Amino acid sequence: MKLSRDDFATDRHGWAEFLPERLPSPTLSGTHRVSFIVIGAGVTGLACARRLADLHPDDEILLLDARLVGQGASGRNSGYAVAVSQFGGGFKASEMPNYQRINRINQAGLDLLRAQVSENDIACQWNDCGFHHTAADKLSMKECEQFVHYLEAMNIAHTRLDQQALRERLGTNTYQRGVHVHDGALLQPAALVRGLADSLPDNVKLCEQTPVLGIVEGAPLTLALENGQVRTDKLFLATNYEAGKIGFLARYLIGSTLAGSFTRILTGPELASLGNLSEWGVLSLHGGGATVRLTADGRLCLRNTAEYHGGALLSDKQLADRQAIHRESFERRFPQLADVPFEFAWSGVEGISRNGTNFFGRQHDNIYLAGGYNGSGVSRGTAFGTALADYANGGQSDLISDCLASAPGSWMPPRPLLDVGAAFTVRSRFKGVGLDR
Ligand SMILES: Cc1cc2nc3c(=O)[nH]c(=O)nc-3n(C[C@H](O)[C@H](O)[C@H](O)COP(=O)(O)OP(=O)(O)OC[C@H]3O[C@@H](n4cnc5c(N)ncnc54)[C@H](O)[C@@H]3O)c2cc1C
Repeated sequence: MKLSRDDFATDRHGWAEFLPERLPSPTLSGTHRVSFIVIGAGVTGLACARRLADLHPDDEILLLDARLVGQGASGRNSGYAVAVSQFGGGFKASEMPNYQRINRINQAGLDLLRAQVSENDIACQWNDCGFHHTAADKLSMKECEQFVHYLEAMNIAHTRLDQQALRERLGTNTYQRGVHVHDGALLQPAALVRGLADSLPDNVKLCEQTPVLGIVEGAPLTLALENGQVRTDKLFLATNYEAGKIGFLARYLIGSTLAGSFTRILTGPELASLGNLSEWGVLSLHGGGATVRLTADGRLCLRNTAEYHGGALLSDKQLADRQAIHRESFERRFPQLADVPFEFAWSGVEGISRNGTNFFGRQHDNIYLAGGYNGSGVSRGTAFGTALADYANGGQSDLISDCLASAPGSWMPPRPLLDVGAAFTVRSRFKGVGLDR
């Protein structure tokens, strides 16, 4: 089937809607020849293009995105830039080298992002306040003990919290126990990627609303655009779950659609009912539990749905339906705010693999790819994108070795079996979620 612009749909929902209007970069048409092209201007592609620009200061780097910056997953996530991953299913001492490897990648990405935000004065509400990992029901309480075991074994700074301490911090009785992990930053995701895009080095040319519709291999490689083509020596794919549309990883990486809601900005007394922190983030210790944030601008934000929807965003009608699920969870946690309406809802698509791995490396002659972070790609995508540019340049580093050590992906069947399997896999994350949802 021939690919077209319509295969890269977007909508007017999400964190970008809180930001002022922005003049997009021009689209690309006509015939061009450049040394380096990066496809995808999310955190991975932005980091890759920035690093390529440093490595090749005399070359132009072309960065193409099918949509506006901020409309991909990087502008639609929950805004947690993690240093420490939680590995569900219990602590396994034999897995410690793998836990350490992944956390080194996270930490490298977090440090890179922090430096870029600071050097370029990016106003994205960056807050190095760490995260609360919480448990409300039986399974997550068991997971909490295992998580603490892992944090202690790995010597990761944290504070254990009981129900009262959590109530004092978060203004809810829902959580029976939890842990505050000290490292990690909260941020406004659309503001982050816009800021990163607007501060790219001069030798990066960003073209938005420019879908790449096909790739013809050869030397040079030829990329088909809507109105033109562009040739290049080296190509970097930072297209996340959409890599399959242009012929890569179609059997290994799919999109799972998540949705959440924001309240209006809370009043002073409403904020006062939410405990003693001015901003916080909660990650559930159950894989299907709600992610909840009090944002820097005083909104509560709650995301607790995930589904297989063919890698597409939800329609307005579907979003309205999912809001009922967000609402139930919100009112159960914050009965004192039962009268506070939701003002926005949004959906976003995360790239997931069957075995939870990430993809990094060379796909074909002169085609490199990084992506698919299973819901944890803000820090990791930044590290992967940076390391990919170095790797393609013949570089060697601990970060490259860590990225290359990602497990191979597990194969997924073609449609229609894929649809059934994917729907089942995504749904199974809610098994036993109970009060954590
Ligand atoms: C609701 C939600 C919440 C999440 N919460 C978190 C969180 O709190 N913390 C965290 O770390 N991670 C989170 N994630 C995951 C995280 O957002 C992603 O892992 C990360 O953004 C992936 O970045 P990326 O640059 O690889 O991909 P993307 O941000 O998806 O960027 C890929 C880009 O490629 C473009 N593209 C694709 N195909 C083409 C083509 N053919 N031509 C041109 N352009 C193309 C797309 O338009 C897109 O902009 C969440 C994801 C979702 C959906």
